[in-house]
Amino acid sequence: MAKNHNRNDENDVCSFCGAHRSDVELLFTGNGANICNRCIENGHRILTESAEETSRKSQAAPLTRDELMKPSEIKEVLDQYVIGQDDAKRYLSVAVYNHYKRLLYTPGENEPEIDKSNIVLVGPTGTGKTLIARTIARLLKVPFTIVDATVLTEAGYVGEDVESILARLLQAADYDVALAERGIVFIDEVDKIARKSDNPSITRDVSGEGVQQALLKLLEGTTVNVPPQGGRKHPEQKFVQVNTRNILFICGGAFDGIERKIAQRLNTRALGFGRAAVQRVDRDNLMQYITPQDLRSYGLIPELVGRLPVLTYMRQLDRAALRRILTEPRNAIVRQYEQLFAIDGVRLRFDDEALDYVVDRAVACGLGARGLRSICEAIMTDAMFELPSSDRSEFTVTADYAREKVEKSDDLAMKKVG
Ligand code: ADP
Repeated sequence: MAKNHNRNDENDVCSFCGAHRSDVELLFTGNGANICNRCIENGHRILTESAEETSRKSQAAPLTRDELMKPSEIKEVLDQYVIGQDDAKRYLSVAVYNHYKRLLYTPGENEPEIDKSNIVLVGPTGTGKTLIARTIARLLKVPFTIVDATVLTEAGYVGEDVESILARLLQAADYDVALAERGIVFIDEVDKIARKSDNPSITRDVSGEGVQQALLKLLEGTTVNVPPQGGRKHPEQKFVQVNTRNILFICGGAFDGIERKIAQRLNTRALGFGRAAVQRVDRDNLMQYITPQDLRSYGLIPELVGRLPVLTYMRQLDRAALRRILTEPRNAIVRQYEQLFAIDGVRLRFDDEALDYVVDRAVACGLGARGLRSICEAIMTDAMFELPSSDRSEFTVTADYAREKVEKSDDLAMKKVG
């Protein structure tokens, strides 16, 4: 006889959701109560989410002085990732230290307020500006975002409003406002929003001065209503308020041709101070003499220059530096390929001459260290395709092999264009 199935029998029902044993995969029986597999799974999810939340909250807990890395310690970490650029590293280590020290300090009655130390990094493309900013954010474990100044516009124009910068930072902080409020924003290509004309009354260009004006408040410290843009933590909220007082802004730009402005200034000054001053100038490396005045001559408005008090520069990377970048940093390109091959049990080696060849090509394409990666990809693609299905346990990249692969990829590129 078929079992009489009484759906209301308490012993056969989940005490939490009321589902019957026949409707679930498993029903566990405990001390006077039952629980089904679905309720266990739901409970587990809630516990995991709340553990994540707690750990995020603890990340957002205020820094303590003991946790704060000293400038020399910051520079030591930067040295592991960024080759050369010693002046910039020293400036940045101090600026970052001061910035986070400022966060820990509440001025007493007769004590001074410490100003923000936003930074501007001037130097050619591919010299490590973004890399330095990203490395600092990682070592401080603060959220980081990169925005391109060229896509920003004044409020009301087509393009991204300046506030969108904070929406991205908020996203990088997984919508934890407290964490976002002490993050780092890297504004790239800030030179592209320079005023095009020296006379501000003649041209009022939307993309240039207007954006500079819009950035002022953000850089200084203000509360901004940020649309959370799909943030799942505040779906019901139209705006999240973010205060930028403790956000560190690092602006970067190539400022092409700024050396001319520096030279002009040095020449004019030299007229007043006699020939001695001129002789001491290292003409091949004018960037090292950059001052806020040069940024103004280039077309940044004085108010913006004033809110970027830490000014430093990146040198063009020479052959020796490019060669070191290939192998020395913690995540150097060559090391990454070695690791990729090691996972397949293949020992990868690059001949010195092959590395010299990569450097030659990178110098020729004039993109600083940016060129290195694409040249290496051109060289390695065939090997990465073939080696996993071969039984080889070693592979050496010689200069001839590298040249052959690069020329093959150049040929292909030509055909695509043609
Ligand atoms: P920039 O912002 O100055 O245009 P990036 O920081 O984006 O240049 O550099 C592009 C890539 O080149 C980086 O991801 C990094 O791999 C490499 N690179 C550039 N400069 C350096 C450097 N000084 N040391 C180590 N790697 C560098």
